Parts: sequence; structure tokens; C-alpha cells
Amino acid sequence: MKYSFPHSLIAGLVASSLVLAGCGVSTSSDSGTPSAQSATSDSGQTPTPESPEASPTATPNDYVASPPENVKAPKKVNGGPPLISRIETKRKIVFLTIDDGYFTDPRTAAVLAEYGVPATQFLTNNSVNGDRYRYYQAISQRDGQTIQNHTMSHPDLKTLSYGAQRDQICQTNEKFQQAFGQRPFMLRPPYGNFNESVRKAANACGIDYIVNWSTTMPKDKLRYQVGNKLRPGDIILTHWSEPFHKWLRGLIKEVHRQGFKFGALQDYLPKK
Ligand SMILES: [Zn+2]
Repeated sequence: MKYSFPHSLIAGLVASSLVLAGCGVSTSSDSGTPSAQSATSDSGQTPTPESPEASPTATPNDYVASPPENVKAPKKVNGGPPLISRIETKRKIVFLTIDDGYFTDPRTAAVLAEYGVPATQFLTNNSVNGDRYRYYQAISQRDGQTIQNHTMSHPDLKTLSYGAQRDQICQTNEKFQQAFGQRPFMLRPPYGNFNESVRKAANACGIDYIVNWSTTMPKDKLRYQVGNKLRPGDIILTHWSEPFHKWLRGLIKEVHRQGFKFGALQDYLPKK
């Protein structure tokens, strides 16, 4: 499937059409409810449980880039949040995003912790409600991790009225503020489907950026929009799925093999 978007991205960011639909996962899997403890790294790193706000940056290492020195926050477009599909940069960095939230496998949390890789979690409220919140609370307290808005119930926002769009986005922000102590400031619209009404609704809910993607990894292999390798600033779409812990480890190694490191999206798209 192919989605196209208004090519009205602001200067400094790269517009690109999306090749693959995101977020095929819609099943309600109850694959267990790991405790916050089980999401702790087995490599000795521990979350900082008292911190209400995630650290904006991850600790640099062989897989994780140092924070940027100078960043210009992208400006509003048409009075609302800009649509971002890729970060304009010359640095060999890419950005990991993980969507939906049904599959709370402690092995996946362990892989994230083992490498210290920052990730932006675009979760739906309905996929993480109940006990699954605890899994993501533990992850969100680690350096470089943030929980962002992927709506309440994963509708195609383009099919909804403005009021319904606003409910989907604002209610998720309120729920996540309560659950995670951080108010989401990025929105990933389900399926990447976006229109100007969504922009207006997102703006009304306090969203600073609408974030899609430029590369996907639907299973164990990367799929590039352009060419056959990663490009600086690629935003990689993945999903909480099974067996994502294996695919994630493969992704981290492949990024490293291509000479790239992971950056933290919130360093380049700072909260306003
Ligand atoms: Zn999704």
C-alpha cells in the first residue's frame, strides 16, 4: 500500500512518501504481564524509578550516538505541528520507533536495555491499558525512552470528524500523562494517515510534531524507501510484536554493521 502526504514539510526536514502501511497488529494478545522488575536490564543497568520525566538523551556507546550540539526545533506548519518523516542531518544516525503496544515481552525490554538504545514508543491507549501499563512505565523511566501518542483505539483518523479526531488524541494524552508522568508531544497517526484536520486536532491537544517514518522493519529485514541501505536521519518503524526481541537484536546489529548509531528522536524534536 502506498500513502501520500501533502508535501508541506518545513525546511530542514525531508519529505518522503510512505511505502508501507504501519501498524498491522490489531489482535488483543495477552502474552503475560511482566512486572516492572522483569523489564529491568540483565546487563546491570537499572531504571531510575523516582524520575517522573525520562532523560532526554541516552548514554552514548558503540550503538548510541551522542546528543546533537545544535538543533533547530522544526517550526509549525499551517498553525499546527509539522509532519516529520525523516530528520535532516548529515550524521550517521537513525531513530527507532516502536508502535502499538500489545506484546509486552520482557526479552524485548531486555534487548533495549542491553544496548541502551533509545526508542520512541508510539502506543495506543487500548493496547496498553490494564496491567500492560507497568511494562511501559518501567521502560519509560530509562534514559532516552519516551512514550508518545498513537491514539486511543487505532482508527484511521482521516475517516473521523474533527471532534472524534480530537477525542482520540486528547484522551490519549491525558491517560498517558497520568500513567507515565509525561505528556506526549509527538503523535503518530495510525497507518500514517494524516490530513489538515488531524493537524488542527493534534495542535489543540498540545502535540508538537506528527511523526511518520522513512524506513520500516515489518519482520526481520529492513525495507528502504530509497536505495538499499540506511540514510542519515531515517526514522525506522517497527511494532511491538512477536518475536520482536529477535528482530530488534538483528536490527541493532544491522544498524551497527552499516556504520550508523541510534539517536534519540526527542533530541531533534524537542518538546516545546
Ligand atoms: Zn499502529
